[in-house]
Amino acid sequence: MAPALSRFASSRTNTLPTLTPCFPTTKALQVKLHFLGANRQVTGSRYCLEIAGTTVMVDCGLFQERPYEDRNWDPCPIDPAQIDALLLTHVHIDHSGWIPRLVKEGFRGPIYATPPSVDMAAVMLEDSAKIHEEDAAFKAKRHRREGRQPRHSHEPLYTREDVSRTLPNLQSVDYNAPLKIGDAMSVTFHEAGHILGSAMLQIQAREGDRQRSLIFSGDIGQWDKPLIRDPTLFDSADYVIMESTYGDRDHREAGDVSDQLADVISSTVGRGGNVVIPTFAVERAQELIYYISELANQNRIPAIPVMLDSPMAVDITEIFQKHRNQFDEESWERIYRGDPPLRFPGLSLCRSVESSKGINKLNTPCVIMATSGMCTGGRIKHHLKHNIGDPKATILFVGHQGRGTLGQQIVSGKPDVRIHGREHRVRAAVRQIYGFSGHGDRGDLLRWISNIEQPRRVFLTHGDEDAALALAEHLQREHQLDVHVPHYGDTVVLD
Ligand SMILES: [Zn+2]
Ligand SMILES: [Zn+2]
Repeated sequence: MAPALSRFASSRTNTLPTLTPCFPTTKALQVKLHFLGANRQVTGSRYCLEIAGTTVMVDCGLFQERPYEDRNWDPCPIDPAQIDALLLTHVHIDHSGWIPRLVKEGFRGPIYATPPSVDMAAVMLEDSAKIHEEDAAFKAKRHRREGRQPRHSHEPLYTREDVSRTLPNLQSVDYNAPLKIGDAMSVTFHEAGHILGSAMLQIQAREGDRQRSLIFSGDIGQWDKPLIRDPTLFDSADYVIMESTYGDRDHREAGDVSDQLADVISSTVGRGGNVVIPTFAVERAQELIYYISELANQNRIPAIPVMLDSPMAVDITEIFQKHRNQFDEESWERIYRGDPPLRFPGLSLCRSVESSKGINKLNTPCVIMATSGMCTGGRIKHHLKHNIGDPKATILFVGHQGRGTLGQQIVSGKPDVRIHGREHRVRAAVRQIYGFSGHGDRGDLLRWISNIEQPRRVFLTHGDEDAALALAEHLQREHQLDVHVPHYGDTVVLD
């Protein structure tokens, strides 16, 4: 059969001839990739991939940075009803927090994620919906009082009801088990070493004798983190879509985390004060328990009560226990020698308000871990109120404190801070331990990408513009890679 190679456009116009695509027996394999978030900034991770008639979305995160939050209200640029499946790398809200909205807009396909991610997504999305509902109600009230016209309706972005319509679509996929989607695509989830259940996605597309492979890095963890396994290294891929959060920086020399924790806890208890630690509910809280349990079991700190005061962190800790088959070798060695990393005699998990209030009535020094991690809300504020004016106490920071947050004000040494509408003089000691980051630094990112032999192209996402461009320049110059840093809304055709 001699296929018609071209056809002239309408003779009524003077336009140049247009080519009609010609597909003899085997179609060319074309990959279309849409960048729908976390482009030259960090939050709102979302991609759409079209291969041979199948459309999948990779991650569906919420924009959480001030200047980009309005994008959460934009309709999905790809018709959600036309998306066949969603692949979730991990449950952080900047990767998962837009899913209920996608469902609200008509997405009905399966949401594939690793088993721990499926369990944690329920906790995270319900919490997120609750925040959206409360925010909407609060703004409605404020706008009414101020007689202002709001930019968006007073509807929440999504509700707990939308979440209950979303959760049944979640389906577990084990690590390293290829899953077929449509006729031409298969995806395999690999350990990302970022949080429990986090994955890198390896996608193989094949049609006739043509094939292409893509790797989505998700968030790349650090090597040798407690509890979870190391990030996966790959040898080959045609296209790599890679995060670049720390593309221009190495982590500060952290020192030994255990030694520093032992020192802070022992010296504070020696003075007769409490150690108050603002923490994130996912991973950071469990890492802290990992370190503190080891210190307690080795008698390197005094035997004192240790409280995890956050219903969400408690739920997540229980999900960690349930999925301990995903822990790394060191954690299993501890389990085998009777030193389980998430349990020890002094530990209390506080869910109820009563148990939370009970902590303030203890008349013995204790360690209090509570959310939120940047002190912007939650039970940590109550504990700060009770302890920040006490020179015997220590406020211990174990994570990055965003600009303008209460946490950042305290860590930067402000003499007075405002909590629940009242000024408090900071008399407690303020300490900080580095080394807890969930993200690999520049050295880790380079280690990961240099293992892949000459990909055709690398796309850098999930990093502030400076970080992404600095890493791009380095990869171009030193590794001779073809690197692109896409903008929000860009579409590329790869073949
Ligand atoms: Zn993450
Ligand atoms: Zn992320």
